[in-house]
Amino acid sequence: MEGLVEAPDGLTPARQAHETRPVLTYVLIALAPIAVTAKLVEKRTPRFYEAGLLLAIVAPLVATVYAMWRLWEEWIGWRELTLFVVLYLLTGIGTTVGYHRLVAHESFRTRPSVKAVLLALGAMNVQGQVINWAAYHRRHHAHSDREGDPHSPREGLLHAHVGWLFRASPAERERYCKRLLADPVIVLIDRTAVVWTLAGLLIPYIVAGSTGLLWGGLVRIAFTNHVTFAVNSICHMYGSRPFATKDASRNNLLIGLLGFGEGWHNNHHAFPRAAFHGIGWRQPDVSGLIIRGLERVGLAWDVRRAPATAVDAR
Ligand SMILES: [Zn+2]
Ligand SMILES: [Zn+2]
Repeated sequence: MEGLVEAPDGLTPARQAHETRPVLTYVLIALAPIAVTAKLVEKRTPRFYEAGLLLAIVAPLVATVYAMWRLWEEWIGWRELTLFVVLYLLTGIGTTVGYHRLVAHESFRTRPSVKAVLLALGAMNVQGQVINWAAYHRRHHAHSDREGDPHSPREGLLHAHVGWLFRASPAERERYCKRLLADPVIVLIDRTAVVWTLAGLLIPYIVAGSTGLLWGGLVRIAFTNHVTFAVNSICHMYGSRPFATKDASRNNLLIGLLGFGEGWHNNHHAFPRAAFHGIGWRQPDVSGLIIRGLERVGLAWDVRRAPATAVDAR
């Protein structure tokens, strides 16, 4: 009988679930007070929020200038370089696969554990609360380059790149993200975003001390900050437009490479719900490859694809 089939380590599935439950319970108990505090201070401290935002943008830039200056005296160590590359990759994937394709566009479905890991990695990338992120992003797709778009370069390249973060009206969570607000995993990571952001600094510090914090934490954040911002600014100004969308979205190779496929932004605006943004091997899409891999091993399903006829018609 199915329910009594032995799991590989000798436990029945039911027993296995019981064995792992206490760990999950402890994690939930530890995160609960933080989630409640975040809920209580939310929207009541705009000045505090703006100061934190400014710090998250300026501190990594200052640290990057310092890191470049240090390079004249001492070449970057292997541990620091590895931390930079691995964390850039992992947290970047958290943003592109987790925040953008899984949550904001619901381009595929996955297990709660995979969802939690992807979103925690995205939060380590200083992307803020995932539901706010999705609300702004859905508003962007609903009003792209028109009145109501939170970050169109038609109001200036700098505004689209970073200025909008300080000027946009609050994220309309209830209006754009009703379904997301009913998902306990998404809500948990959303409420504890600050914990994961700090973990993104603490982990490289624990591994390699202050130089680990510098390269794996701050310099990495400066890079990911500006690649993410560039999708909103550069990818609505510079690049090709194979699809005649109603907005100014562009395909940009540089951001396609640095942003794990997010630079194929004109394709994305043409087919917003598709999980794959790059079309063909000339448009590398690392995030799409990861989703394909997850699908192949049964960890992603209901993966949405652009209609082949529309792509061919291009
Ligand atoms: Zn866009
Ligand atoms: Zn999008």
